[in-house]
Amino acid sequence: MYFGTPKWENIWISEKDLEIILEKLSEFIKPSPYGSENVSLNYGLHITGGEPFLNYNILLKSIQLGNELKIPSLFVETNCYWCKNDEITKEKLNELRRNGLKGILISVNPFILEHIPFEHTERAIKKSKDIFGNNVMIYQKYYYYQFKSLGIKEKFSIEQYLRKVDINDLQKKVELFQMGRAAYKLQDFYKKHPSNFFFKENCQLDLVRNWHNHFDNYRNYMPGYCGGLSWGNIRNLDSLCNEGINLDDFPVFRCLILGNMKDLYDYSVENFDFRENSDGYISKCHLCTDIRRKIVIETNKIKELKPREFYFHI
Ligand code: SF4
Repeated sequence: MYFGTPKWENIWISEKDLEIILEKLSEFIKPSPYGSENVSLNYGLHITGGEPFLNYNILLKSIQLGNELKIPSLFVETNCYWCKNDEITKEKLNELRRNGLKGILISVNPFILEHIPFEHTERAIKKSKDIFGNNVMIYQKYYYYQFKSLGIKEKFSIEQYLRKVDINDLQKKVELFQMGRAAYKLQDFYKKHPSNFFFKENCQLDLVRNWHNHFDNYRNYMPGYCGGLSWGNIRNLDSLCNEGINLDDFPVFRCLILGNMKDLYDYSVENFDFRENSDGYISKCHLCTDIRRKIVIETNKIKELKPREFYFHI
């Protein structure tokens, strides 16, 4: 979704920003339907990345702050790269638990498997269950059981993986958002369409939803799962909420919320000479990202297209 790669500059959220932002957010965060001591995917607050364990000190500080602010259903997402042995795994999970972490989400998918031995993932799940009980989410379970049934222990390349599985079957059984890097890298597995196939699409529900939004280390308030888009500086959340937003200042949002993908397409063709890819697109998000990339190449004046770095990692 966010074109995560080690090639991004090594910039971390500051403690000061964390304090300000978490304090502002704390009043809006809803607990899991099972209660604030439990976790659910789209409730509470999750610390994610990139990979949050890459900077363990900031992760720990986030949990401490979240706990002080009584933010409910606090959990962390991880790819388990750091679970190299039982001691380290137990020690870190216990420390986070003592400081207020309520649960954990463990990412399992073939993209992570390319880089992280599956035995790290299995260790993380086992130790997490010992420490967090039922507050352990495996995303996605289908892959977890599939990797186990394939007898995988180490890393496994995507090419090896794709030789072992039926991709058509996979598409029916797992959740895969056709956006971000996936739209580009996996495009050959999906039917492609010319841009006008997506012209009637509108993104109001994706962009103004009141659940599962993210903020990043550049202080962007990012709507939904839409990488490279920002409603502005999360430190200004009060004015964003109280004064509202004038969509005339946000031409891309204006097209996608009040209009549709055709409006965004026309806007980009007229103003930035966008030319669609003749190979076509697998999803509205694929087209949207391609259009936005072209706009960012041509101008730095469209303020909702942030972080700009996102577009240079496509
Ligand atoms: S088309 Fe663009 S704005 Fe709409 S959901 Fe996809 S990435 Fe977000």
